[in-house]
Amino acid sequence: MIGVLALQGDVREHLATLSALGAEAVLVRRPEELAAVDALVVPGGESTTMAKLAARSGLLQPLRDAVAGGLPVYGSCAGMILLADRLLDAPADQVTVGGLDVTVRRNAFGRQVDSFESQVEIDGVPGGPVHAVFIRAPWVEQAGEGVEVLGRVVGGAADGRIVAVRQGSLVATSFHPELTGDRRVHALFVDTVRRHLAEQAGSAPEGAAG
Ligand code: GLN
Repeated sequence: MIGVLALQGDVREHLATLSALGAEAVLVRRPEELAAVDALVVPGGESTTMAKLAARSGLLQPLRDAVAGGLPVYGSCAGMILLADRLLDAPADQVTVGGLDVTVRRNAFGRQVDSFESQVEIDGVPGGPVHAVFIRAPWVEQAGEGVEVLGRVVGGAADGRIVAVRQGSLVATSFHPELTGDRRVHALFVDTVRRHLAEQAGSAPEGAAG
């Protein structure tokens, strides 16, 4: 069962995409709901608002604990910001869940360009480039050693900027695949979740089941 953090942002689009892939997808608004899921999607929206709402609803620490405990999480746009260990161009008091060893710059593509679209090749996504929609998007300014860079912008002013990463079972993109009808990035995440669950089952001590 995959949860979609439903505090703010484009929750519905992620639910629909996950369901279309055959995954059981549910809303997560409370700590009990978080505790029940095998994985989580953190949608795009407004990361400062989402972080405040997470703190207010008692979800911030449970989210941090869940990530530290290995919960697979996919963060899109504001979701990427929430997963980042370090932020640039963020209010000094902006908190994150963290877990992803990256420095993320908010609204990185510039104030003149609120949104733009580009074709981005994503490692692990077969079938050609993904049509990436960026909306006041962040980029990954610096990625730690354990972070796989899955995609970069090609061409234009943002040439070479990192816009898709994975570290263990954490996946993050600067863009919004849930808005394009292209389910391949979600499929990559669902695959990551399945692999994670299989590994867990494989490494469970004997007799631990049930
Ligand atoms: N600029 C937003 C933020 O900093 C993210 C935008 C988005 O999720 N589309 O939270």
